[in-house]
Amino acid sequence: MVRRVSILGATGSIGQNTIDLIRRAPLDYDVVALTGAGNIGQLARDAIELKADIAVTARDDLLDDLRAALKGSGVQAAAGATAICEAAARPADWIMSAIVGAAGLAPGLAALRHGTTLALANKESLVCAGALMLETAQTHGARILPVDSEHSAIFQALIGEDAAAVERIIITASGGAFRDWPLEKLAEATLAQASSHPNWDMGQRITIDSASMFNKAMEVIETHEFFAIQPDQIEVLVHPQSMIHALVGFHDGALMAHVGPADMRHAIGFALHYPQRRHLPVERLDLAAIGQFEFRTPDEQRWPALRLARETIAAGGMTGTVFNAAKETALDGFIAGRVGFTAMADVVAQTLEDKTASDGLIGATMTLDNVLRVDHLARKAAKAAIDKRAG
Ligand code: NAD
Ligand code: MG
Repeated sequence: MVRRVSILGATGSIGQNTIDLIRRAPLDYDVVALTGAGNIGQLARDAIELKADIAVTARDDLLDDLRAALKGSGVQAAAGATAICEAAARPADWIMSAIVGAAGLAPGLAALRHGTTLALANKESLVCAGALMLETAQTHGARILPVDSEHSAIFQALIGEDAAAVERIIITASGGAFRDWPLEKLAEATLAQASSHPNWDMGQRITIDSASMFNKAMEVIETHEFFAIQPDQIEVLVHPQSMIHALVGFHDGALMAHVGPADMRHAIGFALHYPQRRHLPVERLDLAAIGQFEFRTPDEQRWPALRLARETIAAGGMTGTVFNAAKETALDGFIAGRVGFTAMADVVAQTLEDKTASDGLIGATMTLDNVLRVDHLARKAAKAAIDKRAG
């Protein structure tokens, strides 16, 4: 049966890995929409090759370029945030949510509202609006399948298990670029150093978040939201090889581990074919050649992001919205050279304490409007914190 699929964030790292899988079996898929932002050439090439109905760029100013690139192909062109939501709302059986940042929230919700299966790589939407995402899925009979490798691993370890028998969930972290750096050098880490990951090939933002451990901090919140498990049941374990992605511990003491290569096509392919398991073009691990796996407890002094994530869950309500917005703003500041590497966590901590970051909305009903309002206020508060530090 031919399945209708759309890819939000098609030009990014997850988007391109998704296209790699679809390209291997083009007759199985009818591509509805592809979206991107600045990379018009890539977006147009893929849309034409995959015979998409529509290609959308987030950038209004690039509509003419996109039209020109698609000329004569029969693929429609559109631009802007609203057009991305409209593309997400086009009927499709499976939609990949792989936009980076809170910009992925509204399109993800638009997709869920027509009862589709949403393969969720965009962890920010669960961090900033987990309850809203899950409730929208439930109301509209939609399904969310995790694509983050740890959450895909947990999901797989839970198949056929009794959720009530889960004692703990362990997500692993490679430790990122600065795992073994002396603590006192961390503050001086440069953008180039933070943008290279020892094990995974990913977009720049998540790569830097891996070095600061903010990626894992977001994943702790994501685990709490997606699997409805308490923060004291979620552990983070540093595992430099990135081959065990997560483990689920049950009441009888058993730990079910998911082991696989550091290749996102596994988690993407699992979500694409679920509930079937189909052949995937990923490396088969030779454990004897690998020899050993290492594990360490994460040093919370090196990575304060983990503590901030637990405080965010404990505070509840829309604190996750503030956390995500502050983290995104601090990361923008680091990329722009205005915030030091370790100062990103200070900016997030400061914003979490700043009452103007939520204007009394922390406990309000989680609607898209309220989330976007808090997101806006928290970005403003984080920017003010950055300006103050920069003097
Ligand atoms: P990326 O930067 O490589 O790609 C991001 C995509 O989003 C691109 O298509 C870009 O055009 C689009 N985009 C950027 N800003 C946008 C905006 N304002 N509006 C609409 N579209 C916009 O990022 P990535 O590494 O592919 O990550 C995508 C998402 O998947 C992130 O949420 C990330 O945390 C998550 N994720 C990624 C990996 C990975 O291996 N790369 C693993 C797990 C989870
Ligand atoms: Mg992950």
